[in-house]
Amino acid sequence: MSKRKRIAIGGISTECSTYSPLFQTEADFEQVQGSPLVDLVDFPFEKYEIEVEPLSYYKAIPGGLVEADFYEKTKCGFMEQIRDACPLDGVLLLMHGAMYVPGIEDPEGDWISVVRSVVGEKCIISVCFDLHGNVTDKIIRNIDVFAAYRTAPHIDEKKTYYRAAKLLVTTVNGGRRPKVVWSPIPVLVSGEMSSTCIEPCKSIYKQLENFDQREGILDANLLIGYLWADSETAIASAVVTCTDLKAGRETCAEIAETYWQKRNELTFDMQAGDLKEAIAWLPGEFSILADSGDNPTAGGVGDRADVLEALIDAEIEGVLVAGIASPGIINKLQGTNKTAVTVGGELGGGGPNVILNAEKIYFKNECAVLSMNGITTVLTEKRRPFHKLSDFTELGIELKEYRLLVVKSGYLSPELQSLSAPSFMILTDGAVCQHFANLENKHRQRPMFPFQNSTDFEINE
Ligand SMILES: [Zn+2]
Repeated sequence: MSKRKRIAIGGISTECSTYSPLFQTEADFEQVQGSPLVDLVDFPFEKYEIEVEPLSYYKAIPGGLVEADFYEKTKCGFMEQIRDACPLDGVLLLMHGAMYVPGIEDPEGDWISVVRSVVGEKCIISVCFDLHGNVTDKIIRNIDVFAAYRTAPHIDEKKTYYRAAKLLVTTVNGGRRPKVVWSPIPVLVSGEMSSTCIEPCKSIYKQLENFDQREGILDANLLIGYLWADSETAIASAVVTCTDLKAGRETCAEIAETYWQKRNELTFDMQAGDLKEAIAWLPGEFSILADSGDNPTAGGVGDRADVLEALIDAEIEGVLVAGIASPGIINKLQGTNKTAVTVGGELGGGGPNVILNAEKIYFKNECAVLSMNGITTVLTEKRRPFHKLSDFTELGIELKEYRLLVVKSGYLSPELQSLSAPSFMILTDGAVCQHFANLENKHRQRPMFPFQNSTDFEINE
């Protein structure tokens, strides 16, 4: 009986806005190891008689730059784990693709190339990416399989892990070794302008599944790239895993060309406008406002009080604002008779300071929930999103008691979308501001649509 093939699983995943004043460090990363990591990937390795070695997967809520010392330390620790696990037939790396570390222009390329140097040339490296990741030659040179999400908002993480794991296990079990080709596309828009729920991305992403069926093609991808990093590596791309190089390059060029041709059709997936327009828009029924410039799941700081201030000034009632990051808030209020607190910009995210003089306060799950003049505000100890319905029920909050929900978000999460409420995206300021013209742009490649408008680009085959 032949010996079982062995693969390792691990990686690092975060998204870094270069417009955020914060740094991501140890405390920001969750480490998934052991069987929870195998469960996360959720692939029937046993069926393929593969022995799995779960290493570490580091995962953070998007934010600012990753601290260089933390990155180096984490990378070295991870490489030691890989070294201990060798010899390996394969590695499955879970990455995001939009990490940014001061002094390292292409951290994913750096991480993956070091993995390659440890595992050797024979080992098959399969990589999963978020479709908001950026690709580089260094990444492509060092991998054998590439698969990225095909939905934004993301609802296909597991399916993506499955695609990458399946190609990995079939290759290590004797399948033909794949190749990965890519074409950069000089377009950078936000996720909200490239949602796969609406055109043109809806059709383009649907088409990727058909490309997978082509002779010599294993996995076809379009990456939107990450808008909020003023970095030379930030760019959209087509990436194809193939066994036939010619077919791979042709498919890659076709995806790149299609996205390029559709660039002027990219638009927000929901009604959008500034704060004034948002308040004028408010319907009588339950509705949702998305404070997009400060959305922590895109890299925003999550501490800004612009929308809260505007709603207080406009005397709107029946409002739930969830949430605003306010570190230390529980200590500040709990066990004291204090009812007044100043919020806004406490992590350096900017925006106004707002004084809340609470009529009612309670504490739960590292949150302080304050009510004043018909507005309930959830102040959170940590930066965090409110994208799940359980985020509210766990705080004892009934959404149906409110007329308006304000969340820090770009496009709405699938669970919030499921409420089918009228919704409006506010183009607020912040580290992930949707006004590309307001973003500092010193390092991105040029020309880059929509920063500069050029009419043609040469597909790099
Ligand atoms: Zn993403």
